Amino acid sequence: MENQRKARGLDSLLLSAIFLLTVIIAVFIFISGDSKFQKNTSAANNDKVDETTATLTETQSGFPDIQIIKESSNDISIPYSMQYPKTKFNMVNKEISKYIADSKEKYLDTVYLFRNENKNNSVVGDFRISLQIHQYKNDYYSFVFTNKSSVDKTKYDATIQTYLFNNNTGEFVNMYQLLDEKVKNLEVLADYVQKQITSNPAYKEYLYTEKVQTLTEPKWRHFKKFSIVDNELVIYYDKNEIASPLAGMPTIRIPMSFLNPILDEKYRTNDTSSNTIIKTTHKGKRVALTFDDGPHEKVTKQILQTLEKYDAKATFFMVGHRVENNASLVREVLANGHEIGNHSWNHSNLTTLTPKQVLSQYNSTNDVIYEATGQYPTVFRPPYGARNKCVNDLVSVPIVLWSIDTLDWKYRDANKILPMVKQKMHNNAIILMHDIHQSTADGLDSVLAYLQDEGYEFVTVSEILNYQTSK
Ligand code: ZN
Repeated sequence: MENQRKARGLDSLLLSAIFLLTVIIAVFIFISGDSKFQKNTSAANNDKVDETTATLTETQSGFPDIQIIKESSNDISIPYSMQYPKTKFNMVNKEISKYIADSKEKYLDTVYLFRNENKNNSVVGDFRISLQIHQYKNDYYSFVFTNKSSVDKTKYDATIQTYLFNNNTGEFVNMYQLLDEKVKNLEVLADYVQKQITSNPAYKEYLYTEKVQTLTEPKWRHFKKFSIVDNELVIYYDKNEIASPLAGMPTIRIPMSFLNPILDEKYRTNDTSSNTIIKTTHKGKRVALTFDDGPHEKVTKQILQTLEKYDAKATFFMVGHRVENNASLVREVLANGHEIGNHSWNHSNLTTLTPKQVLSQYNSTNDVIYEATGQYPTVFRPPYGARNKCVNDLVSVPIVLWSIDTLDWKYRDANKILPMVKQKMHNNAIILMHDIHQSTADGLDSVLAYLQDEGYEFVTVSEILNYQTSK
């Protein structure tokens, strides 16, 4: 009895304690909820940017009836730039405007959310939509939008949006119409695309196998992103959609003539020259950017970010003695899909050394890079390009020099790199720069923008060697 009463007393004590605690929690939730609410309204006030502070310009596209609108933000805290077409059809323009407006809104929302979550209003994002236009059989135009965005300029999302339309009627053409509205035809295409993706050496090691399986099932919604470029059907995937970001944005190209049997008559090509050749690799122009004498904690890091912005792959010729203290940076270089080359241990002129010394320069650098990354360098570049028979004999990987010297080491001027590149640019060029000068990192963006505009693909040095005819 005595115990029960004691227990009951305890019960009520416990109950009132719980009650008190509940009240405290409720008050706390109310206060913090209130402050959150205030923060949201202040963020909403910030939302007033854009419209008033954007610049719009209109230029000719080079295609009849199509103008290009360039819209860019004047607010340096929310930079963005977008390119989109204006056609003679309201319906087409409306559809495209919707895509542009939605994309911009999504970007602005993400930036504000990121700033709120990180309580940091000084973070500056980046957002660009670029446009490519392709004409097919006179009447058909493909618009291909590449949409790149980042909340903090470190990691970028990259997506593709495409439209194919008839410039006589203003009607959009989707895959259903292209393939004569037959599932049987879609099955042929889907099967083919799957084979192309899984056998393409550029994507092979990066593929998300299950995603590839799912997204190549013959369903119309899986084949929405496509265009027709130079008599080829191009199928697009977003960054990180079917492969790790290291693979960039995978594309599959199929000659229209090869597809003729499954196409609606209207869309068949008369060009049968490429009938039997199935191209899966990029065609045309490529360039290998190379960065020597690093790694450098700050400069290399900045260069990596700029390269990522353009989905560009490059090659870093590293000096062994700098690798040890920058091991994580060296791993990052490799993880971003770039190639690592050996550039000797301490940048000696190897032609002045004994064979034993040359070997030591070469081996110790190989070892320290292997220790940092688990992989040996795949190419070698002797300091100053100085080589002799001894060097040639002792080095077991390809020795790679360059075809364009930007002289960045001499001028140390961010504005002098691009003119040098422009002046000497040629296909399959190997461009020499140095990732130990801040000026090089600062000047790189303009070089990449220029080369990208010129249609160059940025590849590693080993890849470009495949295309060099005399060796
Ligand atoms: Zn060097």
